[in-house]
Amino acid sequence: MKGLMMDYPLTLTQFFERSRRLFAKKTLATRIPSQPLFRYTYAEFAERVRRLAGGLRALDIRPGDRVGTFMWNCHQHLEAYWAIPMMGAVLHTVNFRLAPPDIAYIVTHGGDTILIVGASVWPLLEPMRRELTTVREIVIVRDTADARLPVGGLEYEDLLRRGAPVAEWPQLDERDAAAMCYTSGTTGHPKGVVYSHRALYLHSLGMAQADSFALSERDVILHIVPMFHANAWCVPFAGVMVGATQIFGGPSPQPRDIVEMTEQERVTVVGAVPTVWIGVKEICEREGHDISSIRLIPCGGSAAPRSLIELFDEKFGVPMLHAWGMTETTPVGTLSRLKSYMEPWPDDQKYTVRAKQGFPSVCVDLRIVDEQGRVAPWDGKTMGEIQVRGPWVTSGYYKADSTDHFTEDGWFKTGDVGTIDPEGYIQITDRTKDVIKSGGEWISSVDLENLIMAHPKVLEAAVVAVPHPKWIERPLACVVPKPEHHGSLTAGEIIEFLRPQVARFWLPDDVVLIEAVPKTSVGKFDKKVLRERFKGWPPKAG
Ligand code: AMP
Repeated sequence: MKGLMMDYPLTLTQFFERSRRLFAKKTLATRIPSQPLFRYTYAEFAERVRRLAGGLRALDIRPGDRVGTFMWNCHQHLEAYWAIPMMGAVLHTVNFRLAPPDIAYIVTHGGDTILIVGASVWPLLEPMRRELTTVREIVIVRDTADARLPVGGLEYEDLLRRGAPVAEWPQLDERDAAAMCYTSGTTGHPKGVVYSHRALYLHSLGMAQADSFALSERDVILHIVPMFHANAWCVPFAGVMVGATQIFGGPSPQPRDIVEMTEQERVTVVGAVPTVWIGVKEICEREGHDISSIRLIPCGGSAAPRSLIELFDEKFGVPMLHAWGMTETTPVGTLSRLKSYMEPWPDDQKYTVRAKQGFPSVCVDLRIVDEQGRVAPWDGKTMGEIQVRGPWVTSGYYKADSTDHFTEDGWFKTGDVGTIDPEGYIQITDRTKDVIKSGGEWISSVDLENLIMAHPKVLEAAVVAVPHPKWIERPLACVVPKPEHHGSLTAGEIIEFLRPQVARFWLPDDVVLIEAVPKTSVGKFDKKVLRERFKGWPPKAG
């Protein structure tokens, strides 16, 4: 017997139309350097979304066409986030921090025909314009007060004036593509992930769940996670869905901007990768800012050190929510919320739980598979690859035949290695490619990094495998001292700090003090660069 409910498509259009009516008075704002915030209402936003769709139609954008965006976080980017999918086209957010050959590959492989580009990032694109062979029109957004517009480019505001505003949105299939995003992979070409309306719809609902980000109309969201990376964790979609006040970080937001906007606008939710929070912490500790309006800091993208979670709790009274996910999972996979019966536990035990990546979100099935291909028990010890499936997990990469990333029984192989404990909390120990295998035993570089970053003189630390004649690989710790401890922190101090905390064979063979940990285009530690730099470690005498 079939259910008798309507087969109503789960598309973004439903959220948009509801929000436009219910939350017309609410505010959206963008930071423009050295100017007051630009502000407008949801009503004005909705009108401009209709105009943008009309303008794109006038440029002959049809259902299924890809429209690329090349922008910082701003309200115009939000307009593109909604107008393009709702007209049946595909929003393709491009990471402009990638290397030029990767950008050219992504735009042409994605088949983008129009690019919407922030004036401040146009200089990155201009030298490769001729290689973008699929692109027939560039639309430029003035994103700074003194934006320089390229000669002959079409200005975004003119595009909005060009066509008739869309009055009726087309009926879409919930399985239609709404957006796409390429992963900043470390080997081979970047790979395209294509999100359906249904996936974004369900994921947005997921983010409003109390046990997830609990987003609501009362929130003031500050967008720092780049909108070109994994849908900015889908918060721009969920934020409009709930009618929250939303502030966009504008060009190149720095930790100081985050602190100032938080104080002025009484921000309640702001997510970012751990490195950003290390920067915010430094400023707040030095200058004593009040960031207590924040009710939640979703933190992920790389492992959030336990010491950072503790510090934000205890010094600033602001809870961090450690989460794990990937471009391929829209992105949220797990969230580290305490269960109610854990609340009375001692702090130490609670932080141990919260520093894990958490238990699977609704709509995400998760398992761990060991090297022999066996599903691992939930014992918190057996390490293996994390595999996931669900309605917001990718089923394949765009225009790619390879099935390497999927199991025969339909699970996505994440390439992350970890454990799952009896309560269902996963702990990521490594990427498969970052794993250190010493004499056949796994050493978790992530665990070592977190322990080292808890040392009071340490700002950042990355641990990589270096080749070893006997053990095949051994850990090398690359450590950045806090500015005030440059010259005073020693390698021996780090080793002695670790000694009581880890098994003997986990102790790094050496500790090198470096100026900064190299970062990827989205602010994660770039261990590939360190592995390359230290592959001949220790240096030969003479
Ligand atoms: P991306 O698709 O660029 O967002 O990268 C996804 C990858 O980031 C994952 O496969 C993990 O390796 C890493 N990652 C994301 N969140 C976390 C986390 N909370 N802890 C450790 N690694 C993470």
